[in-house]
Amino acid sequence: MPAVKAYFDETQNLHHPQSYLTRGAMRAPQEVPARIPPLLAALTDMGVDIDTPRDHGMRPISAVHAMGYLRYLESAHRRWPEDWGAEVISNIYVRKNNPMKGILAETAYYIADGSSPIGPDTWRAAYASAQCALSAADDIAAGQTSAYAICRPPGHHARPDAAGGFCFLNNAAIAADYLRETYDKVAVLDPDMHHGQGIQEIFWERDDILYVSIHGDPTNFYPVVTGFEDERGEGKGFGYNINLPMPHGSSEEFFFDKFEEALTAIRLFEADVIVVALGFDTYYEDPQAKVSVTSEGFGQMGRLLAATGKPICVIQEGGYDVDHLGINATHFFGGLNSE
Ligand SMILES: [Zn+2]
Repeated sequence: MPAVKAYFDETQNLHHPQSYLTRGAMRAPQEVPARIPPLLAALTDMGVDIDTPRDHGMRPISAVHAMGYLRYLESAHRRWPEDWGAEVISNIYVRKNNPMKGILAETAYYIADGSSPIGPDTWRAAYASAQCALSAADDIAAGQTSAYAICRPPGHHARPDAAGGFCFLNNAAIAADYLRETYDKVAVLDPDMHHGQGIQEIFWERDDILYVSIHGDPTNFYPVVTGFEDERGEGKGFGYNINLPMPHGSSEEFFFDKFEEALTAIRLFEADVIVVALGFDTYYEDPQAKVSVTSEGFGQMGRLLAATGKPICVIQEGGYDVDHLGINATHFFGGLNSE
């Protein structure tokens, strides 16, 4: 009987971005529905049941996101004139002194960058994705040793009141905050290729939720303006935000040095449970990779997590080498079930 239970809802794949703006050019999106079938097939081959998530409503979502932002996400595409284009994409970014008059001004406020186009079904998809995270968290709270939310769209770049980096609702943060109802201390370990600035911002002043992120040096790499080591949290949260950036081109060995450093921090914190913001974009052939993790490396990651003896709530984040997502998931969950 596999320890992992998994969640996915077909509604999630109704979110299908057509293009995105990055480094001065409109490009073909990488965060696409085609990422999902290889993950589902890998899990099914391992004998893991994939269930439809239960609906937990808005409360656990509005616990980490601002009401105005949620109203915007729900309504933005409807309010976007058809003759402007098929998707809501901003070319204006103004947070301070924004009068918030009209859909363009709201978009300038609530969308942080050009990589999160809102289509007709984006809200429904993001909502279902968050419900997967909450359903996996439920299983952990009920005593399962591990659970997997196949979240798409991903979430770790979504800030309390802004979408960005392919993300709309912060699935990992929503699950972590929800798990606080059951556990005193929750650690979020984020080994995705990119810094999860959304999780960092959401828990910036908290000492009950530790955030540890391993990622590529953000200098000239998304999210560009956050993810540096000196971002440590504030107030009683000071010291509970840990960024471990890696130079671009780092070896797999260096990645695992950082991974061990992260696990040591989680041990010192004495976390009751670990939420893992799992990205497969550290895979050496991934278009986003700046380090060289192998398929076997994902197995090693799973084994190291299992060896902590803590319940592990896995939330899917990035990973864009569609041809290798299945094999990498097989290795990861094989490792996680090895103990
Ligand atoms: Zn990523």
